[in-house]
Amino acid sequence: MKTIYNCHCHLFTDKNLPNNYLGFGLVKMVRNKSVAKSAQFLLRNLNPLSGYDVGNRFDAFLKAVYRESQEENLKALIGYYPEGTKFIVLPMDMAYMQRKSLPFTKPKKGKIEEDIDEQHNKLAVLAKSYPNTVIPFAHIDPRREDSLERLSSLVEKSGFKGVKIYPPLGYSPTHPRLLEEIYPYMQKKNIPLIAHCSPGSVYTQETDKKSAHQYAHPNNYIEVMDKFPKLRICLAHFGGIGEWKRFFSESRDSRNPAWVKVIIDLMRANEYPNLYADISYTIFDQQENVPLLKVLLQDEKIRDKVLFGSDFYMVENHKYSERRLSIDLRSELGEKLFWQIANANPKAFLNIDTLDIKTLLNKNANVVFEDEK
Ligand SMILES: [Zn+2]
Repeated sequence: MKTIYNCHCHLFTDKNLPNNYLGFGLVKMVRNKSVAKSAQFLLRNLNPLSGYDVGNRFDAFLKAVYRESQEENLKALIGYYPEGTKFIVLPMDMAYMQRKSLPFTKPKKGKIEEDIDEQHNKLAVLAKSYPNTVIPFAHIDPRREDSLERLSSLVEKSGFKGVKIYPPLGYSPTHPRLLEEIYPYMQKKNIPLIAHCSPGSVYTQETDKKSAHQYAHPNNYIEVMDKFPKLRICLAHFGGIGEWKRFFSESRDSRNPAWVKVIIDLMRANEYPNLYADISYTIFDQQENVPLLKVLLQDEKIRDKVLFGSDFYMVENHKYSERRLSIDLRSELGEKLFWQIANANPKAFLNIDTLDIKTLLNKNANVVFEDEK
């Protein structure tokens, strides 16, 4: 039996969200469990919200984010997959994101109950208790001066396997601290990067929405790939659900091509063999984009570069369970393509064979990769 690698999951809790994350003081409000319960009840039963996925999604988000701990979220996630499945866990550092608490107020940073170091530490403990299951990544916000120190300690002391960045929180992937400290360290340590790449979702309100989203544009990585050709980079969400929609209606010679098209062109260019993309959220949410994915995977330059990921718990909803979405995807893609994106490509991205040898050499570790035997 081969191992499934889910390359994009979240386990963080409400304690890692800034108080102004949802506006109107909602984060604080729903910390009160009975308020959260009524909010969920309303979302489930109010039309038109409950009829469509916005309500469902928010409801799922509330449910997951207010689980007691990262471990509670992990247990829910594990339950949807076969035994032995491995999960890349991506923390979030939202401390530097500026949001408006109310419309027309000045955006500012929100207070966070549990800072990024505590979130990372809890993830490190979890990875130790579930060594065959959890693959921990560090969230790096380059605006923090001690980013490199934080990263090297997580990698060298706690065995973190990669880095997550989220540019729409207010910085470019070409931020000087990334170019001068973080990427050189990552290339030296041979650890990969997962970068949020869609114009949707969470963003800073220091600038207008459009500029914040532009930080995530796939073209921003050309400079990074030119300077760090050995760095493996995964553009998360493959440009995002909205850009997959736009791809169908954009002209071939559009001056503003859909992000998915930009990524495909970069992959086909031959110059960037270490560029990957994950399908989390974008195909996983309702699977409406699976036909296009299947067509793209016929291209051998793309087939090797796509990673299976779900974006748990962003996709958790009661209409379709995560298990149903995974099985539907596997059924539609067929076994060969499914295992390519859920096993072979993730192992190449994570450089798992090298990891494996290192782990085996370490007598204290009892990690066994079933499918490598
Ligand atoms: Zn995500």
